[in-house]
Amino acid sequence: MNGYAGKILRINLTNRKETIISTSKYEQWIGGHGMGSAIFFDLVKDKSIDGFDPANVVTIMTSPLSGTLVPGAAGRTEVQGIGVQSVPIGWFTRSNFGGRFSSMLKFAGWDGIVIDGRADAPVWLDIRNDRVKIRNCSTLSLWGTDTWQCQEKIWQYVAGKQEYGDWIEAGGKSGELTTQRPAVLAIGPAGENLSRMACLIHDASNGSGQGGFGAVWGSKGLKAISVIGTGGIKVNNPKALIETRLWQKKHYAFNLEKLKNTRMTVDFQSPPVPGVSWRRGRPRTGHRPQACAGCHSGCRARFDDGLGNEATCFTTMVYAAARDQDVQRHTSDLLNRLGLNAAEIFWGEMYLRELNLYGFLGFNKEVDCPLRFNKYGRRAYIEQLLKMIAYRNDGLGNPHPFGDDLAEGFVRAAKKWGRLDGDEGDLKTGRLKFPNWGLPQHKEPRSQLDWAYGSILGDRDINEHGFDQLRSHPTNSKIYGFEMYVSAEELVRIYTDKMVPFQGDLLMLDFSTTNMYSDHIAKLVSWHRYYTRFWKQSTLFCDWRWPDFLNLLAPGKIGSTGISEPKFLNAVTGRHFTFLDGINLGKKIWNLDHAIWTLQGRHRDMVHFSDYLYTQPGVVDQYLPGRKNGKWDYFNTRGRHFDRDKFDGFKTRFYKLQGWDASTGYPTRGTLESLDLDYVADELQRNDKLGRG
Ligand code: SF4
Repeated sequence: MNGYAGKILRINLTNRKETIISTSKYEQWIGGHGMGSAIFFDLVKDKSIDGFDPANVVTIMTSPLSGTLVPGAAGRTEVQGIGVQSVPIGWFTRSNFGGRFSSMLKFAGWDGIVIDGRADAPVWLDIRNDRVKIRNCSTLSLWGTDTWQCQEKIWQYVAGKQEYGDWIEAGGKSGELTTQRPAVLAIGPAGENLSRMACLIHDASNGSGQGGFGAVWGSKGLKAISVIGTGGIKVNNPKALIETRLWQKKHYAFNLEKLKNTRMTVDFQSPPVPGVSWRRGRPRTGHRPQACAGCHSGCRARFDDGLGNEATCFTTMVYAAARDQDVQRHTSDLLNRLGLNAAEIFWGEMYLRELNLYGFLGFNKEVDCPLRFNKYGRRAYIEQLLKMIAYRNDGLGNPHPFGDDLAEGFVRAAKKWGRLDGDEGDLKTGRLKFPNWGLPQHKEPRSQLDWAYGSILGDRDINEHGFDQLRSHPTNSKIYGFEMYVSAEELVRIYTDKMVPFQGDLLMLDFSTTNMYSDHIAKLVSWHRYYTRFWKQSTLFCDWRWPDFLNLLAPGKIGSTGISEPKFLNAVTGRHFTFLDGINLGKKIWNLDHAIWTLQGRHRDMVHFSDYLYTQPGVVDQYLPGRKNGKWDYFNTRGRHFDRDKFDGFKTRFYKLQGWDASTGYPTRGTLESLDLDYVADELQRNDKLGRG
């Protein structure tokens, strides 16, 4: 089993027992998400349980590429289980984080960890190679610490008196030494207090952000998992792996000679600059790139003054009203330390401010809110807000029901305050920007259809940037006057040529209003679901670099997607996997996930956006490729909204394309059996959830 450690660690917290699952039992799913879904399906007998039920199973999975030198893949970890963040049902969901946890887990001899049950007192997991201990938190006083304090305490405990960089004995294998510290994945106070937007944090800012997995761990009494290993991963063809890495780096990755030609982000041709969105850009003080294990892209940074280390994306967007950059960087750090999901707080923070200005909440207002709005913009304000959500109090250490309201999530809080009622409800006006499943908006849904449909037909904000360049490239070009690298038609050809088995259908990327609900867009959404379920979430290619469609450094500007992914996978495993094999396996995984959601209670009638997306036009300039009078160009999609009936028709087209029952959205036996998922069809049938057809 090249690329695998060969075993998966199963921990039952209720009886504090560890058992081993042979990886070979799930090898057909390759790794990551596929394995996680399959294990979850087998172990959770009643899929309709709540995320806080002790029987909920959380999987933490690696892939065959973890711990190798595959760029933008070796350091990712996939987390799955029933979440607690979404509304009205906490869907079986996923999250993914970078860093070095997955590599270290493989070096310790494990392909994944499966957690179920509930501990009778807070515990942490201490994995040192083969030696696994479930330890009480009380010995190190871990419960109550923030995620950084927790990691430091565990590092000190494992390393003893040795200084950072000294050799330490890892344990579990006699005499084996390492200079590394354990990789620790931890929850903060938000998870301990069951805040539904609590996440898992590893190192400074690698967050398993969505799903509320921090709260799920908190409910299980699990504070942290620490792992240190001194082994290695058997690679089938090390020469081919190194050659593929060098080939990919030479032809497709950033090149210092050509930096002046690139204005793109979230792709391989970008230089190693941190992907931060602090309102005033990057700090003036020095910084150096920081990367996940095995990645040459280095999209994070460590700063001279240590503020905001490794923070990226939404974690750096929260509190745009901060009066200076340091306040915003402190905010990023506090989000990580408390273990909070930045995306929900980004929108929620602005929502609260608006309700305050509107006179709805504040001291002695309709909703009594202890936030000190007179400090808005300062550090004291955001600290109070974040602590309020993490500790379920007034943010200053005193009991207050407002903290409880927020910890339940902004949509649940708004409902409790009566703000979702009537024609002026906040999800109707769009004051509350949570478009699907009670989760926060990310990319503009009325423009980026792949994102919007993928999210509402799935379980979460997809947070998958594979088609983001279609919008960011022309939009930046139009707004800031940057050079357009390729025409709309050329861009669409580059992308669609790679989208097997739908390749060549250019209309998949026609984002014009007349094409919004077409079979072509249904194919785009399907392809994206299949690609991400396998290549990104199972083999764990990083969302910030893959797929590589448009690449300005490559001949013809054609990126390496379709070639690179299987080349890397085959070099490590010795398989003869094609790109299409991966897409097909992604389809199978997508069907398995959809079956789980169906068993949880999903029906097509539930699948609709928040009302504001049907009535309120998008207000941001968003240029995307489309056709008008038979000609391709980039068009501004600003000002449009979804049509309720047409979206309903789109669902029918999408379900038919999947081979599901269009009247219910339930999977059918024929489709499941064609994917060798007969046992899934049987369980759906037993639960009266099998579609007709
Ligand atoms: S691109 Fe960034 S987030 Fe992705 S693996 Fe590389 S360093 Fe990590």
